[in-house]
Amino acid sequence: MKQREPGLSTRAIHGPLVRRASQSPINTPVYQSATFVNQVGSSDEVMYTRYGNNPNQIAIANRLAALEGADAAIFLASGMGATALAHLAVLQSGDHLLATDWVYGGTRVLFTRELSRLGIDVTFVDPSSTREWRNRMRKSTRAIFVETPTNPLARVLDLEPLAKLCQVEGMVLIVDSTFATPMNFRPIEHGADIIIHSATKYLNGHSDVIAGAVVSNNDVIEVVRGLLKTWGQSIDPHAAWLIDRGMKTLAVRMGAHNRNALAFARWASEHPRIGAVHYPGLEHHPDHELAREILDGFGGIVGLQLDGGPEASERVLRRLRVASHAPSLGGVETLVSEPRLTSHAESTAKERKAQGFPDGFIRVSVGIEDVEDLIADFKRALSGT
Ligand SMILES: *Cc1c(COP(=O)(O)O)cnc(C)c1O
Repeated sequence: MKQREPGLSTRAIHGPLVRRASQSPINTPVYQSATFVNQVGSSDEVMYTRYGNNPNQIAIANRLAALEGADAAIFLASGMGATALAHLAVLQSGDHLLATDWVYGGTRVLFTRELSRLGIDVTFVDPSSTREWRNRMRKSTRAIFVETPTNPLARVLDLEPLAKLCQVEGMVLIVDSTFATPMNFRPIEHGADIIIHSATKYLNGHSDVIAGAVVSNNDVIEVVRGLLKTWGQSIDPHAAWLIDRGMKTLAVRMGAHNRNALAFARWASEHPRIGAVHYPGLEHHPDHELAREILDGFGGIVGLQLDGGPEASERVLRRLRVASHAPSLGGVETLVSEPRLTSHAESTAKERKAQGFPDGFIRVSVGIEDVEDLIADFKRALSGT
């Protein structure tokens, strides 16, 4: 009989299925050890936690690879560490990178300040136009980098035209899939070559770890592992263990984030003091049809444009009790932040307005509390009582 391919919840809990030995622990114990015994004269792989081959690091890497439908994965000490090494793995001095203009602030700094120092040129492209990508290509273009869904407007990109372009032109398609997680979108099924996650966000899901991951084929992951040995951003075993625990509930958490965010966005879109609501699950969102087609869930991030500018948003933010004002996202608790103070602090007010989120915009990372409590919290904060 043909074996059924395990579903995403099963994969999130078990990773690749193996027969377990009698009295083996259900959970991978914390191997809080920098190094491991290497028999004299043995040709076994040398185990050392900076090499990314500590058992806690390996356990979560196998689990994430299984979830993404990829050959291999590797966890690193932060999402930024993962983004840096994924790009160093495929780009050399003299190469050119095409990057989406709708990009996480830290990634923009990495591209403009750091890659340029290494002789790698980056051009930012409006990702909504497939033709633009082709127009900006050079002979030296080696890769395309995108994020989807994007921060903070939750725009959803169609990877297939980009994957085709990459295939024809011999380029690599790199996707930051932090907002989606494999529960909502699996970029490899749409032609991506390399996936990046900030595991700080949904993969861990409890706002208590900084981590990142790169997912790809074995060749790319071995190059990233080689870079890790030298550049050194390895994840600590205990942090890896926390992610191990967090990832087991990824399916139920993402289901709750998707449901709560949709209910919250629907409620917000009816509120008279909220000018606009950005959520791909709402019919008026510019990517709603595409999102319905390619995503398994619309995600947990909702953008709210409050009438009355930054003063109004500050007044509302001060009154919230369920939601906390803090950067970051993807945890079980609801967090709100303002792009003008966090992800887009380096842009001017005019630039933020041109990008579609004038000051007074707040990003809500909808948690998995009872959504009625979250709605009541915002209702009270907006009414000023
Ligand atoms: C947070 C984030 C990052 C950076 O991740 P860290 O774990 O904070 O280094 C990269 N990309 C996206 C989309 C993010 O939200």
